[in-house]
Amino acid sequence: MRDSRLDPLFADATALPGVGPKVAKALTRLLGASPAGGAPRVIDALFHAPTGAVDRRARPTIAELVPGEIATVEVVVERHQPPRSPRAPYRVVVADDTGAMTLVFFKAQGPYIERLLPLGETRWVSGAPELFDGMFQMVHPAHVLDAEGVAKLPPVEPTYPLVEGLTHNLVARVARAAFERLPRLPEWQDGAFLARRGFASFAGSLNALHRPTTPGDVSADGPALTRLAYDELLANQLALQLVRAHMKRGSGRATAGDGRIAERVTAALPFRLTGAQARALEAIRADLAAPTRMLRLLQGDVGSGKTVVALLAAATAVEAGRQAALMAPTEILARQHLATLEPLAAVGGLTVALLTGREKGRERARTLERLAAGEIDLLLGTHALFQDDVAFRDLALAIVDEQHKFGVRQRLALASKGVAVDVLVMTATPIPRTLVLTTFGDMDHSALDEKPPGRTPIETRLFNLDRLDEIVAAIGRAIDSGARVYWVCPLVESSEELEGIAAAEDRFAHLAEAFPGRVGIVHGQMKSTDKDAAVAAFVEGRSSILVATTVIEVGVNVPEATVMVIEHAERFGLAQLHQLRGRVGRGAERSMCLLLWKEPLGETAKQRLETMKATDDGFVIAEKDLELRGEGEVLGARQSGAPVFRFARMERHAELVRVAHDDVGLVLAKDPNLTGERGEALRLLLHLFERDAAVRLLRAG
Ligand code: ADP
Ligand code: MG
Repeated sequence: MRDSRLDPLFADATALPGVGPKVAKALTRLLGASPAGGAPRVIDALFHAPTGAVDRRARPTIAELVPGEIATVEVVVERHQPPRSPRAPYRVVVADDTGAMTLVFFKAQGPYIERLLPLGETRWVSGAPELFDGMFQMVHPAHVLDAEGVAKLPPVEPTYPLVEGLTHNLVARVARAAFERLPRLPEWQDGAFLARRGFASFAGSLNALHRPTTPGDVSADGPALTRLAYDELLANQLALQLVRAHMKRGSGRATAGDGRIAERVTAALPFRLTGAQARALEAIRADLAAPTRMLRLLQGDVGSGKTVVALLAAATAVEAGRQAALMAPTEILARQHLATLEPLAAVGGLTVALLTGREKGRERARTLERLAAGEIDLLLGTHALFQDDVAFRDLALAIVDEQHKFGVRQRLALASKGVAVDVLVMTATPIPRTLVLTTFGDMDHSALDEKPPGRTPIETRLFNLDRLDEIVAAIGRAIDSGARVYWVCPLVESSEELEGIAAAEDRFAHLAEAFPGRVGIVHGQMKSTDKDAAVAAFVEGRSSILVATTVIEVGVNVPEATVMVIEHAERFGLAQLHQLRGRVGRGAERSMCLLLWKEPLGETAKQRLETMKATDDGFVIAEKDLELRGEGEVLGARQSGAPVFRFARMERHAELVRVAHDDVGLVLAKDPNLTGERGEALRLLLHLFERDAAVRLLRAG
C-alpha cells in the first residue's frame, strides 16, 4: 500500500482549481490518460517539465530597447488611436522620459483597451519590441500591468510542451496548483551528495521548474532537472535491484548437466565455437548449476551465433532430466529454428517439437500430451508456448529469442510454466551499456562480441531511388551470376496517406516482370503456408529475389544470400537497418547492402544512412541510435516493457545511471528491506516514480 501522504498526488487532476472538463480533456491529450484510463493525475501535471522559459527581468527604458529582446517597460499612456477601418489595428502611444512607443492590438474591443490602458496612467508592458518606421512598437504585449500587477509578475515564465487548447500560462497554473498538493517529504538522497552537486530538495527542484527565477532553473542540464532525473534513475535502479534480489532469494533449482548431450552436439557441428560462444556457455552452465535462478541476457549482433548457444544450454537442462523451451517472435523464425536445430538435436538424442498458432487439433493435442509426459525435451515455438493449456513435465530453462519483440509480461508468462525456471533472453539489438543497466539492472549479461570466422565485410552503398532502373539492371546481372537477393519494402500495400511508397506488392510485380519466375514475395498478410513456400523457394535457390516486408527482419538465415536492397531506407530506424543488413554477409561470399533513399531526406535520416555506410559494428550503431533518437525508441519502449522516463534521458544522464546503480548497491547492502530512515524515504521515492511493484516485493520478502 502506498503511503497515504502521497494520495493527493495520485488524485485526478480535475481535483485542482481551474481544471474543469475542457481543460481536463486537453490535459489528457498532453499528458496521457491515467493508468485507470481517466484524466491525468495531479502528479502527471507536477512532473510535466518545462522545456524553456521567457525571461521578463529586463527593465530597459524605451531608448534602451533592442528589437526582438523581451523587455518589461514602465510607460505613461499618452494617446489612443482607434482603428479607422475594421481591419486596422487599435494603436496606443505610450512614452517614458526617453521616448515613445506604439502598442498594437488587432481585433481589439475599444472599451477593453481603454480599461487596460487608461489615458495618463502609468503601466508596465512586457513583450518583444520591434522597430517599425523608425519607432518601437509592441504587438499584443504579453502583459499590461499596473503597479500591483507588476509586483507579482514572475521574473521568468516557464514554457511547456503544449497541445491545442492549452497555453503556457494555463499549464504553469495547473502545475503550481499541483505543487501545492505536494506533502512534506523526508529527503531520500544522501545529504553530502546533494551538497556536492548543488542540488536543492525534491520540492525545491519542482518549485524551480514551475516558478523559475532564472532561465537556468528550467534548463535541461540545470540542477533542478538533473536532480529530478537522478531521483528517477535512483528509483529505477532500486526497483531493478530489488526485483533481482527477490529472484535470487526465491528458491532456484540446481540444474547440473554431465555434458554428454552437449558433447555429442558440439562434435557434430560443422564449425568450432568461437571464444565468445564458449564463454557465454560456460556462464550459462554455471548459472544453471547454481541453486539460484538464472536471469541472463545474451547479446550478440545478427549472425554472431546465438542459436547454437541456446541449443547447447538446452542440452544441459535435458542432461539434468528436465526440459527447455525456446520462444521466437515469428512463426517463420520458429520454423527456421526447428529446421536448423532438429538434426543437431537428433545427434544428441534430444527430442524437439514445434508449437505455434498453426499447430491445431489432434496434432497439437498430441504434442501437449508428449510435453506433459516429458517425451519432448526442447519445445520451440511462438507466443503459443505460453497458452494456458501448455504444460511441461518439468521446465528448467526458458529461452526467449529476440527479446525486444516481447513484453516483460510474456517473458514472465513463459517462465511461469515451471518451478523456478531459469531464463535466458537473447537479443540481436545491440543495447548500449547504459541502457542495459536501466532496462535490466544487474541482470547477468553475456556478449557474443566475436563474429564466427570466415565472414567477409558487407559493402554498404547509398542510392537515390531515382536510380531504380540502374539498380534493377545491376540486380539482374547479380542474379545471373548466381546471387540471391533480399529486397525489403517498408509497407505491405500502398495506402493513400503514404502515396508514392513502393509497396512490396508493387515492387514484386515490377521485379517479377523483369525477371519472370525468379522472384518471390513474403509479407505479414499472407497465409502461413504461402509464406513458408516463398521462404523455402528462396532458401533452396529456386527463386533468386525475395521481396519482403520486415518479416525477415528477425532471424532468417540464408547464408547464400549476398545482396540486401532496402527501399525507402530513410524510413527505417538504425537498429532495424542494422538487423536487416545482418541477413547478408553470412557466408564466405562478398556481400552488399544497397540503401535506396528518397527525397526529402531529413537530417537524422541522413545521419542514419551515413552511419550505416561508415560502420557495421552493432554497438557503435546502437550508441549512434541512442544519440539520434533517445532511449524510449531505441528499445521500442512499449514493446519491450522498458521503462519510460519522465525526467531522465539516457543520452544526457548516462553518468548518473552508474552513480545511481552504485548508490543503490550500497543502500541495499546496509538496509536490504528499506526499513531504516533513508530506506523509508526511498520507499516514498519508489511510489512517486510508480515502481510500486518493487515495494510489494519488499513486503513479501
Ligand atoms: P544469430 O546470433 O543472429 O541468431 P545464428 O545463430 O543464426 O546467429 O548464426 C548465424 C550463422 O552462423 C549460422 O549459419 C550458424 O550456423 C553460424 N555459426 C554459428 N556459430 C558459428 C561458429 N562458431 N563458426 C562458424 N559459424 C557459426
Ligand atoms: Mg537468431
